[in-house]
Amino acid sequence: MFSLTFLGTGAAEGFPGVFCACPACERARLAGGRNLKTRSCALLEETILIDLSPDIFPQALALGINLSKIESIVFTHTHADHLNLYALMSRANENAAIFPDSAHGKGSIDVYGNNAVGRAIELGFIENPAFRRERMVYHPVKEGDSFRTGGLNFHALPANHKKDEDCLLYIVENGEDTLLYANDTGSLSEKSFDIIREYGKRFNVVSLDCARGLLPGDGHMGLAEDLATIDRLRAMGVIDTSTTLLLNHFSHMSGITPDEFSDHIKGYGLSLAFDGLEVKV
Ligand SMILES: [Zn+2]
Ligand SMILES: [Zn+2]
Ligand SMILES: [Zn+2]
Repeated sequence: MFSLTFLGTGAAEGFPGVFCACPACERARLAGGRNLKTRSCALLEETILIDLSPDIFPQALALGINLSKIESIVFTHTHADHLNLYALMSRANENAAIFPDSAHGKGSIDVYGNNAVGRAIELGFIENPAFRRERMVYHPVKEGDSFRTGGLNFHALPANHKKDEDCLLYIVENGEDTLLYANDTGSLSEKSFDIIREYGKRFNVVSLDCARGLLPGDGHMGLAEDLATIDRLRAMGVIDTSTTLLLNHFSHMSGITPDEFSDHIKGYGLSLAFDGLEVKV
């Protein structure tokens, strides 16, 4: 068993959208609580992040998370709501991140991601030449790759999201318990289903992109695509009635608040992930 904490569960603009006055955002502002969604990223156990949200600092403060314990960050892609380069580079700034004890070694962090993530890091060091390169060890990842970090195994799947970048989704497992973390993406490709089939084990938890809500999918999924994905995974035998099914990366686009959408999806056996939700995988 390992823990998955959703630090943020909103789409790029957040919920309510930062500068948005649409009716859904106005209702979300009034209702508060789980209607307030920061930009998506997730914590695995205490030492691994999937993505680094522009909201990572307030997320850590709100949830009492000590980010100095983070040993690896696994990126899905470089959209600015997932790769906060400013926060990432501060990890390489010895004036900003001080590691006085030897438990952290040289204070290095392992960063996993596609080539665009590697290029972003290169740019970060060009802009900040005084920062310490040895503090950030970049590991290139492409679809079909597997790697191990922080005691968990990751298997990269192709996302269907951004034309000029090989965006990734991840199967995460500890040898027994398995998570599918799948945002940002439109409907999964046959290649992704092939990798899931090859992996072959049942998922304990599945988290699917649902930025589109009640709208048809595009580079993100909506409820219709989520239900079709779940049917397919069920037919493949990798989910069953004990699998926790969560929707994530929810946007104001379809004009419905998180609470309203949560009510809507209950009948399908689905839950909308919310900021601070911790699940045991
Ligand atoms: Zn996103
Ligand atoms: Zn809005
Ligand atoms: Zn994106």
